[in-house]
Amino acid sequence: MPSLYSTHRPKEFAQLIGQSHITKLLKAELSKGLLGHAYLFIGPRGTGKTTTARIFAKALNCTKLKNGEPCGECDMCLAFEAGKFLDLIEIDAASNRGIDEIRELKEKMEYNPSMGKQKVYIIDEVHMLTKEAFNALLKTLEEPPSFVTFILATTEPHKVPATIMSRCEKYEFRLGGTKELTLTLTSIMETEKIKVDKKGVELLVSHAGGSYRDAISLLDTIVAATGDTELTFEEVRNALGLPDIELIHSYVMAIAEKNLSTALATLDEIFTRGTNTAQFTKSVILLFRDTMLEKEKAEEIGQELAVLSKARFTEIIKTLLEAYSAQKYAFDQRLPLQLATIHLIPDDDTAISLPSVKKAEKKQNDTEVVKEAITEITVTEPTTSVVAESASETVATPKLKLKRKKKKAVTA
Ligand SMILES: [Zn+2]
Repeated sequence: MPSLYSTHRPKEFAQLIGQSHITKLLKAELSKGLLGHAYLFIGPRGTGKTTTARIFAKALNCTKLKNGEPCGECDMCLAFEAGKFLDLIEIDAASNRGIDEIRELKEKMEYNPSMGKQKVYIIDEVHMLTKEAFNALLKTLEEPPSFVTFILATTEPHKVPATIMSRCEKYEFRLGGTKELTLTLTSIMETEKIKVDKKGVELLVSHAGGSYRDAISLLDTIVAATGDTELTFEEVRNALGLPDIELIHSYVMAIAEKNLSTALATLDEIFTRGTNTAQFTKSVILLFRDTMLEKEKAEEIGQELAVLSKARFTEIIKTLLEAYSAQKYAFDQRLPLQLATIHLIPDDDTAISLPSVKKAEKKQNDTEVVKEAITEITVTEPTTSVVAESASETVATPKLKLKRKKKKAVTA
């Protein structure tokens, strides 16, 4: 059975949710006929880069464009939808990284399109190309035949050479917010006659991490796993393998109330039940995040949680995030979470005094660094100002020294 994600892949720009800042510009280019020959789509995974590239490729070849939208009816559009359009070439740079692949592409590129007006090359994960392959691609991008359009996509733009970047029109895709992801899921659920209660949808959205693809895949997995098209919050939670909500709430409230014994006892319960510790930590972090942003949600769980300051919320979330990443390398999965809990609820003087001693030490270090830097500025300035022609150079010299000095202090 095809996945929900592939059957519900948008076929026109209007169906793309949350990326109107991009589709508006692409549609304008299409209807005015002012097109570039290379595009770079930047954004996290699951935000619709490839989908948009395919719609754009279809629109470039559609013979009856409607305000920049592909018509969906002409021979070209129909060939696209049947997956039989021959002038769309998709390359996954993660598995075709080398110069040979790009050379081959370059040779074939010279031939006229076999069906449509425009040959479109989509190179996904383009940052994976080798240095030599990038150089070959650069030459290709400099003067491609007029009937060729390149659409490069990447999740890691900092790995794409500046020379490639500067030859492309750049578009940045955004992660979906709660509103956009909920809209995406509810519209699919409506067509597929799937019913999930409001809290269940909220849970799916919060676990998708802003990725449209992940949100849809989660829904897909749960429907497939349960064989059920009417799902409650509890069923969604079980299917996601999430820990008992009562225990999550109990732990969260214990942290909010600074009740160390309850917090540790709840952890014990989690551990003895064999609950996945990483999953539990993630659920707790997400709940703190959601209740920090939505006071109403916090009030539903408990008053002590609702009155926490933003500073306390961020301290808790940061500490738990550290524990979450430490779990991967810990020889005992429970340890980072236990330590984080004790750190968040200092119950005696030793626990409180430890961090403050460190702070005092750090302060002293900082003052020393600044003192040294100041001495250096006063020493260097007169000498350099004689040599330096412009005022900016005199300023730049001490700044550089200060930076280097700081680095030394850290490594020492
Ligand atoms: Zn068409």
